Amino acid sequence: MKIYFIGAGPGDTELITVKGKKMLEKADIVIYAGSLVNPEILKYAKKAANVFDSASMSLDEIIKIMKDGSKNGKIIVRLHTGDTSLYSAIAEQMAELKREGIGFEIIPGVSSASAAAAALNIEFTLPEITQTVIYTRIAGRTDVPEAEKLSSLASHNATMVIFLSVQKIKEVVDELQKGYSPDTAAAVVYKASWKEERIIKGLLNNIADKVKDEKINKTALIIVGKVLDADILKIAKRSKLYDKGFEHGYRKAVIEK
Ligand code: SAH
Repeated sequence: MKIYFIGAGPGDTELITVKGKKMLEKADIVIYAGSLVNPEILKYAKKAANVFDSASMSLDEIIKIMKDGSKNGKIIVRLHTGDTSLYSAIAEQMAELKREGIGFEIIPGVSSASAAAAALNIEFTLPEITQTVIYTRIAGRTDVPEAEKLSSLASHNATMVIFLSVQKIKEVVDELQKGYSPDTAAAVVYKASWKEERIIKGLLNNIADKVKDEKINKTALIIVGKVLDADILKIAKRSKLYDKGFEHGYRKAVIEK
Protein backbone atom coordinates (compact mmCIF):
# COMPACT_ATOMS: atom_id res chain seq x y z
CA MET A 1 0.00 0.00 0.00
CA LYS A 2 1.19 3.50 -0.67
CA ILE A 3 1.81 6.20 1.91
CA TYR A 4 -0.24 9.40 1.87
CA PHE A 5 1.59 12.59 2.84
CA ILE A 6 -1.15 15.05 3.77
CA GLY A 7 -1.01 18.75 4.54
CA ALA A 8 -3.09 19.04 7.71
CA GLY A 9 -3.54 22.79 7.36
CA PRO A 10 -2.45 25.53 9.76
CA GLY A 11 -4.45 24.52 12.84
CA ASP A 12 -8.19 25.06 12.36
CA THR A 13 -9.45 21.51 11.84
CA GLU A 14 -11.72 22.69 9.02
CA LEU A 15 -8.74 23.87 7.01
CA ILE A 16 -7.73 20.42 5.81
CA THR A 17 -8.77 19.65 2.23
CA VAL A 18 -11.79 17.42 1.55
CA LYS A 19 -9.42 14.94 -0.07
CA GLY A 20 -7.05 14.97 2.89
CA LYS A 21 -9.87 14.45 5.38
CA LYS A 22 -11.32 11.56 3.36
CA MET A 23 -7.97 9.79 3.40
CA LEU A 24 -7.47 10.47 7.11
CA GLU A 25 -10.89 8.89 7.78
CA LYS A 26 -9.77 5.74 5.99
CA ALA A 27 -6.31 5.44 7.53
CA ASP A 28 -5.27 2.42 9.59
CA ILE A 29 -2.07 4.14 10.69
CA VAL A 30 -1.61 7.88 11.25
CA ILE A 31 1.78 9.45 11.89
CA TYR A 32 1.41 13.13 12.74
CA ALA A 33 3.94 15.85 13.45
CA GLY A 34 2.81 16.53 17.01
CA SER A 35 4.97 19.60 17.51
CA LEU A 36 2.83 21.64 15.09
CA VAL A 37 -0.19 19.71 13.84
CA ASN A 38 -3.30 20.45 15.91
CA PRO A 39 -4.04 17.07 17.56
CA GLU A 40 -7.77 17.86 17.36
CA ILE A 41 -7.57 16.88 13.70
CA LEU A 42 -7.19 13.27 14.82
CA LYS A 43 -10.93 13.27 15.53
CA TYR A 44 -11.34 12.49 11.81
CA ALA A 45 -9.37 9.24 12.17
CA LYS A 46 -11.02 5.88 12.92
CA LYS A 47 -11.12 4.93 16.61
CA ALA A 48 -9.22 1.79 15.72
CA ALA A 49 -6.46 3.66 13.88
CA ASN A 50 -2.96 3.36 15.23
CA VAL A 51 -1.75 6.90 15.91
CA PHE A 52 1.90 7.92 16.31
CA ASP A 53 3.30 11.34 17.21
CA SER A 54 6.49 11.77 15.19
CA ALA A 55 7.79 14.54 17.48
CA SER A 56 9.73 12.04 19.56
CA MET A 57 10.62 9.68 16.70
CA SER A 58 13.70 9.39 14.46
CA LEU A 59 13.45 9.16 10.66
CA ASP A 60 14.35 5.45 10.87
CA GLU A 61 11.50 4.79 13.31
CA ILE A 62 9.03 6.63 11.09
CA ILE A 63 10.15 4.71 8.00
CA LYS A 64 9.96 1.40 9.86
CA ILE A 65 6.30 2.02 10.74
CA MET A 66 5.61 2.96 7.12
CA LYS A 67 7.43 -0.09 5.80
CA ASP A 68 5.78 -2.60 8.12
CA GLY A 69 2.36 -1.05 7.64
CA SER A 70 2.64 -1.00 3.89
CA LYS A 71 3.78 -4.64 3.84
CA ASN A 72 0.67 -5.55 5.87
CA GLY A 73 -1.63 -3.76 3.45
CA LYS A 74 -2.48 -0.89 5.84
CA ILE A 75 -3.54 2.58 4.74
CA ILE A 76 -0.93 4.94 6.15
CA VAL A 77 -1.33 8.69 6.48
CA ARG A 78 1.56 10.97 7.32
CA LEU A 79 0.22 14.33 8.52
CA HIS A 80 2.33 17.45 8.22
CA THR A 81 1.43 20.96 9.30
CA GLY A 82 0.24 23.53 6.77
CA ASP A 83 1.19 22.59 3.23
CA THR A 84 3.50 19.71 2.46
CA SER A 85 5.67 21.73 0.05
CA LEU A 86 7.13 24.10 2.65
CA TYR A 87 9.66 23.16 5.34
CA SER A 88 7.99 19.79 5.90
CA ALA A 89 11.02 17.51 5.58
CA ILE A 90 8.99 15.17 3.42
CA ALA A 91 11.83 14.85 0.89
CA GLU A 92 13.93 12.71 3.23
CA GLN A 93 10.96 10.44 3.87
CA MET A 94 10.17 10.16 0.16
CA ALA A 95 13.82 9.31 -0.51
CA GLU A 96 13.70 6.41 1.96
CA LEU A 97 10.40 5.19 0.51
CA LYS A 98 11.87 5.30 -3.01
CA ARG A 99 14.81 3.26 -1.80
CA GLU A 100 12.41 0.71 -0.34
CA GLY A 101 10.26 0.69 -3.46
CA ILE A 102 7.19 1.90 -1.53
CA GLY A 103 4.80 4.19 -3.41
CA PHE A 104 3.45 7.43 -2.04
CA GLU A 105 1.09 10.26 -2.88
CA ILE A 106 1.02 13.86 -1.67
CA ILE A 107 -2.23 15.65 -0.80
CA PRO A 108 -1.40 19.34 -0.34
CA GLY A 109 -2.73 21.55 2.43
CA VAL A 110 -3.41 25.16 3.38
CA SER A 111 -0.13 26.73 4.43
CA SER A 112 0.16 28.83 7.57
CA ALA A 113 1.26 31.59 5.17
CA SER A 114 -2.21 31.58 3.57
CA ALA A 115 -3.87 31.41 6.99
CA ALA A 116 -1.79 34.37 8.19
CA ALA A 117 -2.75 36.45 5.14
CA ALA A 118 -6.39 35.62 5.82
CA ALA A 119 -6.05 36.55 9.50
CA LEU A 120 -4.52 39.87 8.48
CA ASN A 121 -7.19 40.49 5.80
CA ILE A 122 -4.55 41.08 3.18
CA GLU A 123 -3.54 39.98 -0.28
CA PHE A 124 0.20 39.32 -0.60
CA THR A 125 0.29 40.66 -4.16
CA LEU A 126 -1.20 44.04 -5.06
CA PRO A 127 -1.03 45.95 -8.37
CA GLU A 128 1.61 48.72 -8.30
CA ILE A 129 2.96 47.57 -4.95
CA THR A 130 4.42 44.13 -5.47
CA GLN A 131 3.75 41.07 -7.60
CA THR A 132 6.18 38.86 -5.73
CA VAL A 133 6.14 36.90 -2.48
CA ILE A 134 9.31 35.52 -0.94
CA TYR A 135 8.94 32.57 1.44
CA THR A 136 12.11 32.19 3.44
CA ARG A 137 13.69 31.65 6.86
CA ILE A 138 16.77 32.65 8.78
CA ALA A 139 19.48 30.01 9.20
CA GLY A 140 19.03 27.77 12.20
CA ARG A 141 20.16 24.18 12.52
CA THR A 142 19.41 24.12 8.79
CA ASP A 143 21.70 26.38 6.77
CA VAL A 144 20.40 28.88 4.24
CA PRO A 145 22.42 29.27 1.00
CA GLU A 146 24.64 32.39 1.01
CA ALA A 147 22.83 33.87 -2.03
CA GLU A 148 19.56 33.87 -0.05
CA LYS A 149 20.69 36.01 2.87
CA LEU A 150 17.77 38.04 4.24
CA SER A 151 19.65 41.26 3.50
CA SER A 152 19.90 40.47 -0.22
CA LEU A 153 16.33 39.16 -0.52
CA ALA A 154 15.23 42.37 1.20
CA SER A 155 16.57 44.47 -1.67
CA HIS A 156 13.55 43.46 -3.79
CA ASN A 157 11.09 45.11 -1.39
CA ALA A 158 8.63 42.34 -2.21
CA THR A 159 6.22 40.80 0.31
CA MET A 160 8.22 38.49 2.55
CA VAL A 161 6.90 35.64 4.68
CA ILE A 162 9.48 34.33 7.12
CA PHE A 163 9.03 30.89 8.63
CA LEU A 164 10.88 29.29 11.57
CA SER A 165 12.53 32.54 12.63
CA VAL A 166 10.46 34.40 15.22
CA GLN A 167 12.84 33.36 18.01
CA LYS A 168 15.50 35.40 16.20
CA ILE A 169 13.29 38.33 15.24
CA LYS A 170 15.85 40.97 16.27
CA GLU A 171 18.43 39.49 13.93
CA VAL A 172 15.78 39.15 11.20
CA VAL A 173 14.70 42.80 11.31
CA ASP A 174 18.30 44.04 11.47
CA GLU A 175 19.10 42.12 8.29
CA LEU A 176 15.89 43.21 6.55
CA GLN A 177 16.58 46.88 7.21
CA LYS A 178 19.58 46.59 4.88
CA GLY A 179 17.04 46.42 2.03
CA TYR A 180 13.65 47.67 3.26
CA SER A 181 13.13 51.09 4.78
CA PRO A 182 12.86 50.88 8.61
CA ASP A 183 9.29 52.17 8.48
CA THR A 184 8.08 49.28 6.29
CA ALA A 185 5.03 47.57 7.78
CA ALA A 186 5.62 44.26 9.52
CA ALA A 187 3.39 41.78 11.32
CA VAL A 188 3.78 38.62 13.33
CA VAL A 189 0.98 36.09 13.33
CA TYR A 190 1.14 33.55 16.12
CA LYS A 191 -0.79 30.29 15.68
CA ALA A 192 -2.76 31.50 12.65
CA SER A 193 -6.26 29.93 12.59
CA TRP A 194 -5.90 28.37 16.09
CA LYS A 195 -8.08 29.54 18.99
CA GLU A 196 -4.91 31.05 20.49
CA GLU A 197 -4.17 33.11 17.35
CA ARG A 198 -2.52 36.47 18.04
CA ILE A 199 -1.58 39.25 15.64
CA ILE A 200 1.10 41.83 16.33
CA LYS A 201 1.45 44.71 13.93
CA GLY A 202 4.20 47.26 13.70
CA LEU A 203 7.06 48.50 11.59
CA LEU A 204 10.36 46.85 10.84
CA ASN A 205 12.04 49.07 13.43
CA ASN A 206 9.68 48.30 16.32
CA ILE A 207 8.10 44.88 15.71
CA ALA A 208 10.91 42.96 17.45
CA ASP A 209 10.30 44.70 20.81
CA LYS A 210 6.54 44.22 20.53
CA VAL A 211 6.98 40.52 19.86
CA LYS A 212 9.43 40.15 22.76
CA ASP A 213 6.90 41.90 25.06
CA GLU A 214 4.26 39.39 23.97
CA LYS A 215 6.74 36.56 24.66
CA ILE A 216 6.17 34.95 21.28
CA ASN A 217 9.06 32.71 20.33
CA LYS A 218 7.58 29.91 18.24
CA THR A 219 4.72 28.88 15.90
CA ALA A 220 4.63 32.31 14.28
CA LEU A 221 5.28 33.88 10.93
CA ILE A 222 6.95 37.22 10.32
CA ILE A 223 5.39 39.08 7.41
CA VAL A 224 6.94 42.17 5.91
CA GLY A 225 6.01 44.49 3.09
CA LYS A 226 3.95 47.42 1.92
CA VAL A 227 0.92 45.21 1.25
CA LEU A 228 0.36 45.15 5.02
CA ASP A 229 -0.56 48.80 5.28
CA ALA A 230 -1.54 49.59 1.71
CA ASP A 231 -4.79 51.50 1.50
CA ILE A 232 -6.75 49.22 -0.80
CA LEU A 233 -9.34 51.92 -1.36
CA LYS A 234 -6.65 53.99 -3.02
CA ILE A 235 -5.01 51.50 -5.32
CA ALA A 236 -5.31 53.35 -8.59
CA LYS A 237 -4.63 50.47 -10.87
CA ARG A 238 -7.00 47.56 -10.38
CA SER A 239 -5.88 44.13 -11.43
CA LYS A 240 -6.36 43.48 -15.13
CA LEU A 241 -8.41 40.39 -14.41
CA TYR A 242 -11.66 42.24 -13.74
CA ASP A 243 -10.94 45.32 -15.84
CA LYS A 244 -13.81 46.01 -18.24
CA GLY A 245 -11.46 46.79 -21.14
CA PHE A 246 -9.35 43.70 -20.68
CA GLU A 247 -10.31 40.66 -22.70
CA HIS A 248 -9.28 37.16 -21.78
CA GLY A 249 -10.26 33.61 -22.54
CA TYR A 250 -13.37 33.77 -20.37
CA ARG A 251 -14.65 37.25 -21.20
CA LYS A 252 -14.87 39.74 -24.10
CA ALA A 253 -13.70 43.30 -23.53
CA VAL A 254 -16.28 46.07 -23.21
CA ILE A 255 -15.36 48.93 -25.54
CA GLU A 256 -16.42 52.20 -23.94
CA LYS A 257 -17.75 54.74 -26.45
N1 SAH B 1 4.52 23.37 6.12
C1 SAH B 1 4.19 24.42 7.07
C2 SAH B 1 5.44 25.07 7.61
C3 SAH B 1 6.26 24.16 8.50
S1 SAH B 1 7.67 24.92 9.18
C4 SAH B 1 3.24 25.41 6.42
O1 SAH B 1 2.95 25.32 5.22
O2 SAH B 1 2.72 26.28 7.14
C5 SAH B 1 7.09 25.40 10.74
C6 SAH B 1 6.94 26.91 10.82
O3 SAH B 1 5.74 27.28 10.13
C7 SAH B 1 6.78 27.48 12.21
O4 SAH B 1 8.04 27.72 12.80
C8 SAH B 1 6.07 28.78 11.93
O5 SAH B 1 6.96 29.73 11.42
C9 SAH B 1 5.15 28.37 10.79
N2 SAH B 1 3.81 27.96 11.24
C10 SAH B 1 3.26 26.74 11.18
N3 SAH B 1 1.97 26.77 11.61
C11 SAH B 1 1.71 28.07 11.92
C12 SAH B 1 0.56 28.77 12.36
N4 SAH B 1 -0.61 28.15 12.56
N5 SAH B 1 0.65 30.10 12.55
C13 SAH B 1 1.81 30.76 12.32
N6 SAH B 1 2.93 30.15 11.90
C14 SAH B 1 2.89 28.83 11.70
